[in-house]
Amino acid sequence: MATAGKIKPIAMNSKTEPGKATQPNRVPLIFELSSEGRRGADMAPRKAGRRSGAEILGPQLCRDDLKGFPELSEPQVVRHFLRLAQLNFAQALQFYPLGSCTMKYNPVVNDEMAALDGFAAIHPLAPPHLAQGAFELMARLEAALAEITGMDAVSLHPAAGAQGELTGLLVMRAYHRKRGETRHKVIIPDTAHGTNPASCTLAGFEVMVARSNARGFIDAAEVKRLVSTDVAAMMVTNPNTIGVFEPEICEIAKILHDQGALLYMDGANMNALMGVAKPGHMGADVVQLNLHKTFSTPHGGGGPGAGPVCVKRELEPFLPAPRLKKTERGWVFDEDRPDSIGRLRSFHGNFGMLVRAYAYILALGGDGLAQASRTAILAANYIRKRLEDRFPCASPEPSMHECVLQHDLESRAGVSTLEIAKRLLDFGIHPPTIYFPLVVKGAMMIEPTETEAKEVLDNFIAVMERIYDEAIDDPEVVKNAPHTLRLSRVDEAEAARRPILRWQPKAE
Ligand SMILES: *Cc1c(COP(=O)(O)O)cnc(C)c1O
Repeated sequence: MATAGKIKPIAMNSKTEPGKATQPNRVPLIFELSSEGRRGADMAPRKAGRRSGAEILGPQLCRDDLKGFPELSEPQVVRHFLRLAQLNFAQALQFYPLGSCTMKYNPVVNDEMAALDGFAAIHPLAPPHLAQGAFELMARLEAALAEITGMDAVSLHPAAGAQGELTGLLVMRAYHRKRGETRHKVIIPDTAHGTNPASCTLAGFEVMVARSNARGFIDAAEVKRLVSTDVAAMMVTNPNTIGVFEPEICEIAKILHDQGALLYMDGANMNALMGVAKPGHMGADVVQLNLHKTFSTPHGGGGPGAGPVCVKRELEPFLPAPRLKKTERGWVFDEDRPDSIGRLRSFHGNFGMLVRAYAYILALGGDGLAQASRTAILAANYIRKRLEDRFPCASPEPSMHECVLQHDLESRAGVSTLEIAKRLLDFGIHPPTIYFPLVVKGAMMIEPTETEAKEVLDNFIAVMERIYDEAIDDPEVVKNAPHTLRLSRVDEAEAARRPILRWQPKAE
């Protein structure tokens, strides 16, 4: 069996004070590195003479009562933060099979494009005649996303998938209202991502839960049972969060449409479909995309996102305003949109993410996008098949871009999914998404993406096999993991309830 890569301890550079034993493997706080009066580099005084911070900013913005504020040299600061950054698990450093999040490789060229002066330095209030290049990029990205999803119109306005959901729901509400209807219910499958019901509630809808069948998808008959003229829409993630393509999606769309309801497709899982199948062809009326997942732009840790909403023609008037419009003078923002739901955020989305997504789409082209989806599906099914003896899949249906696996270690050895996830950290692997979807007991949702080499997948498989066998032979090893990291287990509930965000100097 292949063995997982050794974890190298990161060289420490703690403050060495004579006489004080430094603990190995411990990163000092920046406050502990402080020496009174130590300073970083400063600019040479200008001809006009040096002005203090208070002179430049005004005394009201300058505090002089920050006791214990750390004082360090510039290299100390750089090393401190670089060292902290090295403690993170990162997609650029480790295999990161975090299901539903699509943590794929982000090509560096995308960052270079987003950093071009004309894009990065443009002011959000620049007059249209000075922003034509940015407008053109947005228009082309809208067109590309419309083509990929098979929809008629796109708004790049929402800042993330969840905000895209809210936007789509508000658009559907406005559409029904315009027709004089007051539908107040939305059907959501029991496998849905938590943001789906949250967005519904925020948009003022009541949620009805559709049960998925034993094979992990929604029967059209279940939708027929739930639908009525009170139902505004059904939200379906396709492929769903068990990683299974909804085989009855076209029939479901027809049942909804026959009752005047709409089909919303959560497009967070488009990494299985791009270039291969279009939500528009499946009967979807609205679909949001998570550009920061499918189209490679970096995300995680609450970083910027982009959740464009794509709609069919009848829903276009209700999209957020302003909308891009081509005139004789070039592109302008059209504010005259009487049926629009208005703005959901300031300005026009996280523009750098739009540039990255457009660069990604151009680099791959239509065939390349399809190839990416197919490779992502192949990688997920490879892992599923190789692990099936120890970690069987939650559904007998073929997996799409991710597979949801289960195990019997809880009953056999008292080892939980959380403990398996923690043990993976010892092998330099970011854990998959766990305990989601909620309908699968002890779920591990593994999404390898198309960007990993076969050797990386083989190593992951070998590590998972080893952890399974360890759990049977020596469960304590797994139950007490991780053993190689600086921090072992933190009290997650306490950390969320009582976060300590500010350093307090110890009373001497
Ligand atoms: C990630 C995800 C969302 C939410 O998207 P954010 O960009 O994180 O707001 C919604 N649905 C599914 C299925 C997802 O995977």
